[in-house]
Amino acid sequence: MTILVLGGAGYIGSHTVYELIDNGEEIAVVDNLQTGHEEAIHPKARFYKGDIRDNNFLDEVFKKEKIDAVIHFAACSIVAESMNNPLKYYDNNICGTKILLESMIANGVDKIVFSSTAAVYGEPERIPIIETDRTEPANTYGETKLSMEKMFKWVEKAHNIRFVSLRYFNACGAHVSGKIGEDHSPETHLIPLILQVPNGKRKFISIFGDDYDTKDGTCIRDYIHVTDLARAHILAVKYLQNSGQSDIFNLGNGVGFTVKEVIDTARKVTGHTIPSHISPKRAGDPAKLIASSEKARQILGWKPQHDSLEEIISSAWMWHKNYPDGFKKST
Ligand code: UDP
Repeated sequence: MTILVLGGAGYIGSHTVYELIDNGEEIAVVDNLQTGHEEAIHPKARFYKGDIRDNNFLDEVFKKEKIDAVIHFAACSIVAESMNNPLKYYDNNICGTKILLESMIANGVDKIVFSSTAAVYGEPERIPIIETDRTEPANTYGETKLSMEKMFKWVEKAHNIRFVSLRYFNACGAHVSGKIGEDHSPETHLIPLILQVPNGKRKFISIFGDDYDTKDGTCIRDYIHVTDLARAHILAVKYLQNSGQSDIFNLGNGVGFTVKEVIDTARKVTGHTIPSHISPKRAGDPAKLIASSEKARQILGWKPQHDSLEEIISSAWMWHKNYPDGFKKST
């Protein structure tokens, strides 16, 4: 039986495919390559280029492959873009998922693991955040992910498709092989932007606000290695295969670092001074986001293995140093 990975050419999707194949699974990847990279797809995965909003295309993939479970990463995920172009997010994330679910129903596939986000919480009511805390997204991206979670809940009642929703905190780092890593265009995430400085692509890193109510005034986030996230997907598929009930899990290390601490660690890892400038706050940035992942630990048996920030940034640096222009210009 095959696991179908939608968005398997993207950052978290490609790392998950690498882990699944290392685990001996048969994998089919679907990706429209709008933000994903063909070079990131594991050579042993069967690749179908196409869009999840194309129901004929999806039906064909389901007919060709004997799919046991779906892992769904195929979504738009840039917060600022989601505010400027909300309908793109409704179309891709929500309409895309609706068509996917129709195809799963039509083809008798009843298990799905999908990417959700800490952005569903908005401004947290407490730290660490647990899954039952208030969800009040502060941007369209988080809103569409929350709507997807709700869509799965109602569809399960009618069609018995069980789901696991994984709410990621700050995904970062790169594969141990150094062959795949983060390559977004435009890049908006802190660690790859910091590493553009020692790579000579940026003169300094901007710190978005230094008067938050935190120990050094900069925002605190829970940085989680992409390979640890990837492993959580494998555990979630196994959980569903073993008749686990639909559920939602946070995925983070449970430890927060300030923006300044992340920059300092990158200085240590790269040996570069990495100048920084204080810039205005970015709209909608909560001061502090830290996950409680106790539930994933208890129920899925998940345990992050790369939980030191230095190790996370070292793995990212190995990737960015070797592929300063990302996938496209590296071959
Ligand atoms: N950040 C920053 N400078 C940058 C990019 C990000 O100070 O150039 C901060 C941002 O305000 C947030 C943290 O770094 O507090 C992580 O941002 P990122 O965009 O990586 O992830 P997010 O937490 O928004 O999902």
